[in-house]
Amino acid sequence: MAAGRPDDVIRLGHRPLIVSDVDEVVLEFLTPFKLFLESRQHRLLPRSFRLSGNIVDLQNGEAASEAAVKALLDAFYDAQEQWQTPAALVVNALAELSAEADIVFLTAMPPRHAAKRRALLDALGLPYPLLASEEPKGPLVEQLHGGRELPMVFIDDILRNLHSVRDHAPACLLINLMANTEFRALAPVPDAGIHAAADWTEAAPLIRAHFGRWAPRR
Ligand SMILES: [Mg+2]
Repeated sequence: MAAGRPDDVIRLGHRPLIVSDVDEVVLEFLTPFKLFLESRQHRLLPRSFRLSGNIVDLQNGEAASEAAVKALLDAFYDAQEQWQTPAALVVNALAELSAEADIVFLTAMPPRHAAKRRALLDALGLPYPLLASEEPKGPLVEQLHGGRELPMVFIDDILRNLHSVRDHAPACLLINLMANTEFRALAPVPDAGIHAAADWTEAAPLIRAHFGRWAPRR
């Protein structure tokens, strides 16, 4: 699923491209991860916009170590189908957009979890191709799009990923969307040129407007 270049494993039509992150954009991540942590005697405290240092072991009140956080994340992704649910309105929004654009999911999880993620997305009515890679997203998106004269949109909750795509595909419309409102309030403000959308009812018109603006150049 993550083998080879992205343009080797995903075939695109001659139409606009929407590349979307998964966790916090298409699937709820922080809300179910908090519940998962509680089931493992841990708690995620909304003290700052990061996991590291903010996950507390309820047995001793201390912040979980980096290794412990990694193990908890691994266990969560391994059981993701029991915990993760679709972000609000995403299933209908993407079904409608898929009539006019190719949709590709780009998830920054270790590829070993990709089969479970694929099965969960399929079960939820989100059948679009999935790339699982921990490589920087900009070069992956650039390879996928391949410099085609077609509009492209990239959606992610993490500014670092949006900046990476901006650096490699400057014509791409960038949308910052994060499902969890508690942590969104702690997130850095997107810089100029990155559009903020509270949810998919705000993201979909931004995407359609971008496609519409592009059309006369085709
Ligand atoms: Mg994400």
